[in-house]
Amino acid sequence: MTSRTEPSFRESVDLMFNRAVKLMDLPPGLEEKIRVCNATYTVRFGVRLRGAMHTFTGYRSVHSEHMEPVKGGIRYATGVNQDEVEALAALMTYKCALVEAPFGGSKGGLCIDPREYEEHELELITRRFAYELAKRDLINPSQNVPAPDMGTGEREMAWIADQYARMNTTDINAKACVTGKPLNAGGISGRVEATGRGVQYALREFFRYEEDKAAAGLSGTLDGKRIIVQGLGNVGYHAAKFLAEEDGSRITGIIERDGGLFNADGLDVEAVRNWIVKNGGVTGYPDAQYLEDGSKLLEEDCDILIPAALEGVINLSNAERVKAPLIIEAANGPVTAGADDILRKKGCVIIPDMYANAGGVTVSYFEWVKNLSHIRFGRMQRRQEEARHQLVIDELQRLDDVMGDTWSMSPNFKDKYLKGAGELELVRSGLDDTMRVAYQSMREVWHSRDDVTDLRTAAYLVSIDKVAKSYHAKGL
Ligand code: GLU
Repeated sequence: MTSRTEPSFRESVDLMFNRAVKLMDLPPGLEEKIRVCNATYTVRFGVRLRGAMHTFTGYRSVHSEHMEPVKGGIRYATGVNQDEVEALAALMTYKCALVEAPFGGSKGGLCIDPREYEEHELELITRRFAYELAKRDLINPSQNVPAPDMGTGEREMAWIADQYARMNTTDINAKACVTGKPLNAGGISGRVEATGRGVQYALREFFRYEEDKAAAGLSGTLDGKRIIVQGLGNVGYHAAKFLAEEDGSRITGIIERDGGLFNADGLDVEAVRNWIVKNGGVTGYPDAQYLEDGSKLLEEDCDILIPAALEGVINLSNAERVKAPLIIEAANGPVTAGADDILRKKGCVIIPDMYANAGGVTVSYFEWVKNLSHIRFGRMQRRQEEARHQLVIDELQRLDDVMGDTWSMSPNFKDKYLKGAGELELVRSGLDDTMRVAYQSMREVWHSRDDVTDLRTAAYLVSIDKVAKSYHAKGL
């Protein structure tokens, strides 16, 4: 056992930043400038509900404005506090830099348990919070663009967008004030699945490199790999579903608030999700072993562990017992700085949060661009692309006709080839490219420097270098 005490979330992020920055040669003072959070705004506002005035506390923190707008989600949870929002805002800065989304870092939060309120009450609260932020330009298409995070989703983003539009009736770019909106309110196809999809693309890219797999003691493909997922919310659900359905991985464990499920043969992700939606938790799910203390599953034997819920779940109290050789941080900050040290020494490979869950902000970037360009992706090219493909198909058809039994087009080829890319296909392609390129930039540093022994440090080096270069370009 260790006698170290656990730092706060923000201190944990700072410790990881410091570890990386020591290996860099930044101009004097710049290190401190990048690390600190520029500003955190706290708002306390009242909303009249159920015949009484209720006071709510919310935050919007801006970590770095080296690029604007700044970007980051708004979280609704009872545990929201300034330290957490600042840690998350810092991670947004590094995340955006790493995946080359042209934003600074920000994050917001409201101390509230959304399950305790009716929909119309949540709307009043969200609109009031949005009003408080928008009037200070903490929601603004060119300065600060929120998005969903834990406890919020498309519905809240639609309210925020509408609230901003009401306050800025002549702003032609009003829709770009927030991302993660529903499709009919200016959203983009594929945003809901984006973070989970990004986790899948990240793992696929990792599994393309023998050397990287070997570092974790793994080999082969994702097919048949045993995966334990913590949190079957939007991120965990999509990641688990895609990995099981499209890559053949086996989801052997699912951890939720009320316990954990284990099935060595693999759980049916869709069935578990439906059970949770219907029953409010995993308790009673029939086709698995149930563990009241779900967190024990974090220590279970598996090939890949995906913490996709809260920060700090792998910490000094359990890191030593975590057996997974590969952890991919779908959540923000699930491994504390202390746990990171322990796991690294044990040889565990961690694909860090700022990369692993960057799919969300990447597709948010696409949505923001779509809103600013006022046109859906693919609208101009799709039919033209199909027409050109038709020419090839016609030629092949001619060949098919004269070749008789000796040659014919493969089944489905015609349909697949003819289909021009719509918005969803383009979004997925842009996301895949982003995840691949960002991974390559990290692994380059990981493998080329003797003083860099893990992906997290590599990720920090890549992103801090990018942030430093933007400051330099601004003459700072
Ligand atoms: N809340 C998400 C995150 O932590 C998404 C942020 C965004 O899309 O701006 O990355």
